[in-house]
Formats: sequence, C-alpha cells, structure tokens
Amino acid sequence: MTDQIKMAPCPFCEGPPCVDVRDFVTGVELTMDRPQTEDFDEAYVAHVWCHDCGAQGPSIDSCTLSTFEDIHDLTVADVMRIAVERWNDRNAKARNCYDAGEAEGLNMFPRSAA
Ligand SMILES: [Zn+2]
Repeated sequence: MTDQIKMAPCPFCEGPPCVDVRDFVTGVELTMDRPQTEDFDEAYVAHVWCHDCGAQGPSIDSCTLSTFEDIHDLTVADVMRIAVERWNDRNAKARNCYDAGEAEGLNMFPRSAA
C-alpha cells in the first residue's frame, strides 16, 4: 500500500489535480493497481494535470527515471507517485535563467527580431 501524500492545487487556478498514467509504449491508459511483470519490463509514463484549466505537471516516465536518475523496477503506482511529487515540488531553481533572458528581451512574446 502506497502512503498517501496530499496533491498541491494547480499553480495557475488552484483547481483540483488529477493523475494520468499510461503504458509508455502503447499509450494505453492504466490504473494504479496494474501489476508490474515479474521481470519489471513494462514502462509507464505519468503526469498530474489540473481538472479545471488543463495545466500539466512534468511528464515522468520509467525509462527516463531509469536512464538518468538511476531509479529502477517501478510499478504504475511508483511512477504516479513520482509525478505527484514533481507536481508538488514548487521551487525557483530556474529563476536565474528567466532573469538572464529578461535582460535580453527573451521573455517577450513575440520576441523582437534579432
Ligand atoms: Zn488549473
């Protein structure tokens, strides 16, 4: 049984979050209780989305987690939980990129011609 964690409200409209999870290969929607195979050879992709405005959190998949974050042998529930944790993780770690772009006018739409 997975421990419960509270999902944060949508950062745009404070609407209710939902979790979408699919088979990474086929794109078929899955349920949290789907069992992983004995060899852990199924891959899943999940993201949290806002039921009201449709905003989406980061897309989290077990292939990327395995290759780049050394996280292996994940179940559907594990991938969903990581998607929720990333949705909940609000931070300003890329703010310096935004600020650097501001100096160059990169935060304007449309951007000025170079
Ligand atoms: Zn929203």
